[in-house]
Amino acid sequence: MKRMADPRPDALPRAETSGAERAGAVLTVDLDALADNWRDLGRRAAPAICAAVVKADAYGLGALAVTRALAAAGCRDYFVSSIDEGIAVRSALGAPSALAGRPMRVFVLSGLARGALGDFARHDLVPVLLSPDEVARWAGYCASHGRLAAGIKIDTGMTRLGMDEAAFRALAGDGTLARLPVALVMSHLACADEPAHPLNEDQRTRFAALARLLPGVPASLANSAGIFLGAPYCADMVRPGAALYGLAARADAPNPMRQVVHLKAKILQVRVVDSPRSVGYGAAGRAGAGSRLATVAVGYADGFMRRLGDGGGGHVGDCLVPLVGRVSMDLSTFDVTAAPEAATRTGDYIDLISPRQTVDDLARAAGTIGYEVLTRLARRIHRLYLGGG
Ligand SMILES: *Cc1c(COP(=O)(O)O)cnc(C)c1O
Repeated sequence: MKRMADPRPDALPRAETSGAERAGAVLTVDLDALADNWRDLGRRAAPAICAAVVKADAYGLGALAVTRALAAAGCRDYFVSSIDEGIAVRSALGAPSALAGRPMRVFVLSGLARGALGDFARHDLVPVLLSPDEVARWAGYCASHGRLAAGIKIDTGMTRLGMDEAAFRALAGDGTLARLPVALVMSHLACADEPAHPLNEDQRTRFAALARLLPGVPASLANSAGIFLGAPYCADMVRPGAALYGLAARADAPNPMRQVVHLKAKILQVRVVDSPRSVGYGAAGRAGAGSRLATVAVGYADGFMRRLGDGGGGHVGDCLVPLVGRVSMDLSTFDVTAAPEAATRTGDYIDLISPRQTVDDLARAAGTIGYEVLTRLARRIHRLYLGGG
């Protein structure tokens, strides 16, 4: 089969306006707030090292810009999900010599894909080994290619990825792990966002006992919420993702993180309704006589979830403007009757993620979590990056 040329935007004829002007929605990522959050988490976790989880394209915000901003702030350790994400982060970090101090490390969380061993070495990525079989394959690879660093993941109660405790004890006991250059031993908390959950302490004590079997190897347990469980959970390295991007690590306390994300959608058309009528698909929305409706260029294809049609909204300045009817693929309609007319004309914007409606607020309204809101924000949303050193 003949391959089609990749129709990338930069190969298309240039338009006369800027991307931000043409875009229906604009996502602003505040890289200074991101860097502040990383420093803040680092202070809370000290003396533990603060790494950064930048999987899923840095939770949808753009791994290139995010990684560079964090590197400029001093972050040396990154976690991604796949080899391809690792290659992208490596290229964002640039040549190792360009950055002073301890070398940058990029850990790949998804284990050793068959046939991919050479990719870790070629791209300077550190695999996180998940089973005795993976440990054996990596040891075999190191026997012929030199001692290459790896992480080891133990399952202490998440029951998802990682080797079980008995397998880890066996590998630690027979000296297998001592012969490998193990750069990190890690596990993952299942309930860190519920501080009172008994599984937290259970996982922590199990992990601490297991990590002691590899003396001198740095240990890592805490994600964002784990950091807020206190010093014993921070071990030698913490791995925040969500809190870096401004999400609340726990629901039962005010969120101390700075907001990183702002999303606004452009008004395409405004209409004043002269008599009561239905709005949108399924005639599910109702507009009363005299109401002013603004339709914006954002829909579920942008990650603005359809579920929001039932009770969601946005803001114009301080004014709450409710959604009316269903969210469509590319469009959503808001009742802007209460907002100033001068701020709700065609070409003006409605704020969808802002200090008045955080990512977590939007997630609650959509019946989901902030992680899903961020990672679903579509590529076609125009991205602006502020700051970043
Ligand atoms: C995603 C992930 C993290 C980051 O979790 P947050 O809740 O976003 O801080 C840390 N560790 C592992 C193993 C992960 O998969």
